[in-house]
Amino acid sequence: MRRLIPLLIVLPLLLVALWRFRHDRDGRVEARNEWPVMGTFLNVTAYAPDTGTAHAAVAAAGRAVFRVDSLMSTWKPHSEISRLNAAAGSGEWTPLSRETLQVLLASQLLARFTNGAFDVTVGPLMQAWGFHGGGARIPAPAVLDSARALVGSSTLQVDSAGSRARLQHRGSAVDLGAIAKGYALDIAAAAMRAAGAAAGMVDLGGNVLVFGPPPGGRADWVIGVLDPRDPAGTIGEIRLRAGSVATSGDYEQFFEVGGVRYSHIMNPARGEPARGTLQTTVVAPTGLQSDGFSTALFVLGPERGRALLAQPFARGVAAVWVRDSLPLDARDVVVAGASAARIHIALPAPR
Ligand code: ADP
Ligand code: MG
Repeated sequence: MRRLIPLLIVLPLLLVALWRFRHDRDGRVEARNEWPVMGTFLNVTAYAPDTGTAHAAVAAAGRAVFRVDSLMSTWKPHSEISRLNAAAGSGEWTPLSRETLQVLLASQLLARFTNGAFDVTVGPLMQAWGFHGGGARIPAPAVLDSARALVGSSTLQVDSAGSRARLQHRGSAVDLGAIAKGYALDIAAAAMRAAGAAAGMVDLGGNVLVFGPPPGGRADWVIGVLDPRDPAGTIGEIRLRAGSVATSGDYEQFFEVGGVRYSHIMNPARGEPARGTLQTTVVAPTGLQSDGFSTALFVLGPERGRALLAQPFARGVAAVWVRDSLPLDARDVVVAGASAARIHIALPAPR
């Protein structure tokens, strides 16, 4: 018991220490918490009239993201996506939750509108290039050919009414790495609102979503546009009232051979990592859109990407591309899309 008493005092203190609260200038309570999840860190900040509500909102956001991870991770053998992949080629349908169904349907739309530049069936290519563990490398031509034969939106069949899916070919595999984090932001924000949060920010490994009035009486939330060659720095900022910002970069996961950088974002048409862009940052109404479009527009590049953003399908979406050229100057940055005026880039003038 003598040992137990200090423990009983210390444990609650430790639990409380993970939580941070303070009072906002507007009299709201701010609560924050952080968790490691989906291969990165989740940071949640909620603003609410009282401590209990702020706390509940942050906890609800955390639960929502962990749920998305448990449904859609390819690293968890019992996730719905892992079960779908394990059943590939068997003819069996895999039952899906409403959430996974929604993400697969959105992915199919994005694949259609990008002519396959965005394609969640890239799983075999990710494996061939060694981005799913086992050491990234340039695959042998025969390995690449067989991977390419398994990729393409026609291999994935989604039965919306029956809430189920299947993959036609044995060895085909869905990978939601380009879109699940963004979707997780959307349902985290919805959970926060339902718990009574007046405003909040959810940051999942650099995918950010904000809603409600920002703290300090400011009109806008301000989100930095990362510097692709200096992750600690920024090259500009985005001001928004509500919505989501996501960045896809060639520096997230990559390897180099002969001075060429091979990154984890695939150009499915070529069966190899997309080239020519260092980074794409996207502003969009939802997390699902900012995440999905950031990967799609990375692959498409600024010329074809601009045409996509002009379509009604991409209403409300804007993007910043940083072209692969060093040292960076203003010519290497292309801004396009709806809310482009709210994106401010501060780079040196052309040489
Ligand atoms: P990050 O995960 O670093 O935030 P992205 O959102 O751009 O970056 O997602 C990259 C991931 O998306 C890859 O790791 C892979 O799982 C998947 N992926 C790669 N290429 C494509 C593609 N062309 N279409 C859809 N998903 C892709
Ligand atoms: Mg993405």
